[in-house]
Order: sequence, then structure tokens, then C-alpha cells
Amino acid sequence: MAVRNVINTDDQRLRQKAKKVKRFTPGIKQLAQDMLETMRSAGGVGLAGPQIGVMQRIFVAEIPAARGEGESPHPQSGRSYVLINPEIIKTSTERAEGQEGCLSIPNLQGLVERPQWVQLKAQDINGRKIKLKVDDLLARVFMHEIDHLDGVLFVDHINDPAKLWRVEDEAQSTTSEPMSQNTA
Ligand SMILES: [Zn+2]
Repeated sequence: MAVRNVINTDDQRLRQKAKKVKRFTPGIKQLAQDMLETMRSAGGVGLAGPQIGVMQRIFVAEIPAARGEGESPHPQSGRSYVLINPEIIKTSTERAEGQEGCLSIPNLQGLVERPQWVQLKAQDINGRKIKLKVDDLLARVFMHEIDHLDGVLFVDHINDPAKLWRVEDEAQSTTSEPMSQNTA
């Protein structure tokens, strides 16, 4: 396993559409492991292939159980996801605004409005077809990652400059800061 280098917005690959995964090889399993490791090491809750320069439709997500001292774990924590060739089937009409950051845009955070839940189909690491419905923070993370597969970044969803702000590098790496949990 290896921690891969996360690319930032200077790299045009973040603006390109990733290709469908067609073969479920041991290489894909290795890639998924590396992505989980990279995401955890960077303190993120999600990571998509293009963020490490791999232009394939794969993303990982995991909300860590450990938060700030004295806080109870997030109800959606404790499970890791590897989703391949994800497609959104349906989203709620109800939308929610939430804070987001991006491992590829380390100096910015903002408020993004997204559907409250999302239903999607995808393939698992063995190529088996799966369907799932997630809400709240996981829905936000999944949609953020699927955007990455299409070359879309969270800042693209923000029209009001007051909803986008700069953060210090130190704040970004402080995992005990609950808000920084939304970095993907
Ligand atoms: Zn991101």
C-alpha cells in the first residue's frame, strides 16, 4: 500500500472527465487501498481517482469515528466505501447547505447547497452491481466525489463570494476541528 500524491488545481486533470472502469483487476484493488490510505493520511472524508491523477471513475469515502475530544462520533462514521462507475439515479428535491473543503484545494472552504439525499448505482471492487441511498454528510461527500469524476469542483457550485473563504494550512490539517471533516 502506498500514500499517493494528491494533485491540486494547477493540474488540468482535475478538470477532465474520468473514464469508466472496465476491468476489475488486482490493480484496481490496489488502487482502492492506496486511495483509502491517501484519504486517511490527508485527513479527508473522500477521495476521487482524478485527485491522485488516475482518470478512472472510482472514489472512496469514510467518515472517521474520531472527532474532537468529548464529541460523540458522527452517526455515519465507521464504514468505508469504494464505489466504481457511480451513477446518480435520483436526488431529493429538498436541499441542504453544508460546509465543504477539498484536498485538491487546500486553502478554500465554502458553503455548498446540495440535495439532502442521493440514490445511486455503482459497482463494487469486484465489479458487482450495487445500489445505495445515502443522506446527510455521506450524500454530500458522494456528490462531491462524483463531481470530481466529471471535472467539477465544489467551488463551481458557489455563486456568492461570501460563501467561500480562505483557510490557513494549519487549520486544514487539524482533524479535531469538526468542520474540517468535510474535506474531500
Ligand atoms: Zn474534492
